[in-house]
Amino acid sequence: MNKIFQIAIDGPSGAGKSTIAKRVAKELAIDYIDTGAMYRAVGLKMLRNGIPMEENEVLQKMLDETDVDFENERVYLDGEDVSDLIRTQEISKQASDCSAFAIVRNKLVELQQNMGKRKSVIMDGRDIGTVVLKDAEYKYYLTATPEERAMRRFKELQAKGSGETYEQVLEDVNKRDYNDMHRAVTPLRQAEDAVLIDSTNMTIDEVVEFIISNIK
Ligand code: C5P
Repeated sequence: MNKIFQIAIDGPSGAGKSTIAKRVAKELAIDYIDTGAMYRAVGLKMLRNGIPMEENEVLQKMLDETDVDFENERVYLDGEDVSDLIRTQEISKQASDCSAFAIVRNKLVELQQNMGKRKSVIMDGRDIGTVVLKDAEYKYYLTATPEERAMRRFKELQAKGSGETYEQVLEDVNKRDYNDMHRAVTPLRQAEDAVLIDSTNMTIDEVVEFIISNIK
């Protein structure tokens, strides 16, 4: 397969987008771009620099001086590997909050579009099929019930020894869904030409197989 192609995967948090996208990327030997990690990296930088949670010149200046990039599935913020630092509940919330600002989205969408130009990629996020890679050949909207997504996340947290209850995780999932689907700037929605995959009763292998079987 020599032709350049793009695969877009959108959906709410906890639907398994990154796990699936990583697997598909490996099987097809293409690059995986985790756009959520980019919002997390910007959120981390805002926290570190005490940038207030509002759209203003200080935030714009910070964004002008920000670089986010990937290498071997690690995310680099201004050259620093922040892949592990961004996987906390605090940064999840910070990422969701700052992703509502148009100036943050403009900056990251531009970086993402450049990343998807020259090579075959699979990109996951909330606005990939609707904005970032509007012309992608393959588009999917991956979802599962909030209860199932919360249960998957709860098990992950438990394995890490984290003390959150299932109810707390479910509340967090519902809050993030609400934020992502109701923000004024490019809210999460299924692109008209995206294929819906409800993974509630599907295994990871089944979803990966389904996506790959569609690629011509
Ligand atoms: O996917 P992940 O949970 O890492 O994304 C973190 C946050 O970044 C999400 O809650 C969402 O608000 C935001 N995001 C976004 N657009 C994307 C990817 C992520 O708004 N393309």
